Amino acid sequence: MPNAIGRRAVVIGAGMGGLTAARAVADHFEQVLVLDQDTLPDNPADRHGVPQGRHVHALLAGGQQALAELFPKFEDALVRAGAVRLRVGLDIRVDRPGFDPFPQRDLGFDAFAMSRPLVELTVRRCVQEHASIDLRHGCRVQALVHRPDGAAVTGVRYTDAAGRAETADADLVIDASGRGTPTLDVLGALGRTPPAETTIGVDLGYASAVFEIPNDAPNDWKGAFCLPGAGRASRGSLMLPLEGHRWIATVGGRHGDLPPGDEAGFIEYAKALRTQTIYNAIKHAKRLGDIARFRFNESVLRHYQRLENFPRGVLPLGDAICRFNPIYGQGMSVASMEAAALGRLLARRARERDPLAELAPEYFAEVERIVDTPWAAAAIPDFVHPETRGERPPDFEQTLKFGGALGLLAARDPAVHRLTAEVQHLLKPRSVYRDPDLVQRVMAAMREPKVARAEEGKRS
Ligand SMILES: Cc1cc2nc3c(=O)[nH]c(=O)nc-3n(C[C@H](O)[C@H](O)[C@H](O)COP(=O)(O)OP(=O)(O)OC[C@H]3O[C@@H](n4cnc5c(N)ncnc54)[C@H](O)[C@@H]3O)c2cc1C
Repeated sequence: MPNAIGRRAVVIGAGMGGLTAARAVADHFEQVLVLDQDTLPDNPADRHGVPQGRHVHALLAGGQQALAELFPKFEDALVRAGAVRLRVGLDIRVDRPGFDPFPQRDLGFDAFAMSRPLVELTVRRCVQEHASIDLRHGCRVQALVHRPDGAAVTGVRYTDAAGRAETADADLVIDASGRGTPTLDVLGALGRTPPAETTIGVDLGYASAVFEIPNDAPNDWKGAFCLPGAGRASRGSLMLPLEGHRWIATVGGRHGDLPPGDEAGFIEYAKALRTQTIYNAIKHAKRLGDIARFRFNESVLRHYQRLENFPRGVLPLGDAICRFNPIYGQGMSVASMEAAALGRLLARRARERDPLAELAPEYFAEVERIVDTPWAAAAIPDFVHPETRGERPPDFEQTLKFGGALGLLAARDPAVHRLTAEVQHLLKPRSVYRDPDLVQRVMAAMREPKVARAEEGKRS
């Protein structure tokens, strides 16, 4: 390998972050060892290490783009596996306060809907085509190994599928363990300061059920999104198509208004959503399998970019850095975008004398840039709810009003609608909203009575 940066990279976790990271580093290391604690199925089945996989998992167009950069055959493979192509703006009915429904129009790009196990299996198969990537099941990483002076991580200690204690040396370890904490643990073991965290306490409860799509399903949408309002209307729901002519409907509420896990309770809960779109679609549909539930207490963003002297040889990625409120379907896409950015960064640094020196600050700066838009997109609506815990952004009230007026313009103007969808799908950063012409139009809309009334409604 002429441009090899090192002999071996180890990736902890074979979720979306770990799989994409493995591909991203594979061009720069002679061998990539991926270790996952789970037995990874060779069909699209749920697994223990990814309990969230039983709930709706939207793949945003920004994530799709990152996956296509890493795996040129990914989109074809996904479609062949049965994923449903969605025309963004047209195929999902969106009921949001003030617009029930929001205008449906073709915004010129696609996204795909499928189960979380299917998207992960498709990526896993793409990864398995790379001879230099060794994907090992049933291997639980116990700790990172570091140099005696603490300046660098040099590998991992793990237990293999037979229960044997093993050590793997590595020039670079990627921590894609999701809710795991190996990076935080090694910082603790080295007596270093952990990264500062921003948390937003949302106390969400999710319940999800899968249905056979009935013959009389509406033909003007393939999926539906009921966005919550505040107060009594704080329940929301997203229903998307899945492979195999099915729908997955996830309903959720906050701060104690949790959905029940029995069928009658689930349907009653859906009936009390702000609009009846999803309830009407599923009330007579045939349910398949169990109802799954999930509690998500807080979003967490770890500010690794603020740490000085981060040890060499280790980088966290995906949920190990930032766990988003899942309502906006961003986590898999952000993890894939971080992996793609890491691949580009390694390619740029490969010609330097010591490519791994100073890799961490550059990588964390990229991550900060990637996370900025999705974090803000979720945080602003979270703070509409008075029970939400955490520090409100300083410009919260103004940003909220700006968002309301931007929504009004998007409903009227297809070009603005497309722009907001591109930001929502992580194809563009939220800084595009600072365009002076757009700002002027939004300010004018903010003075309209409809926006003022909508703001009042959100707080009632
Ligand atoms: C209810 C819910 C709904 C969601 N909906 C969406 C959505 O619609 N769209 C979206 O993009 N995102 C969604 N997300 C977020 C998404 O699931 C995550 O952001 C994404 O899976 C992050 O990928 P990851 O690889 O960082 O972590 P994970 O996917 O959690 O993978 C971590 C992996 O590490 C393994 N592991 C952990 N510890 C160890 C260890 N010590 N040794 C070895 N292996 C280990 C685990 O087995 C697992 O395979 C949702 C999340 C939740 C909770």
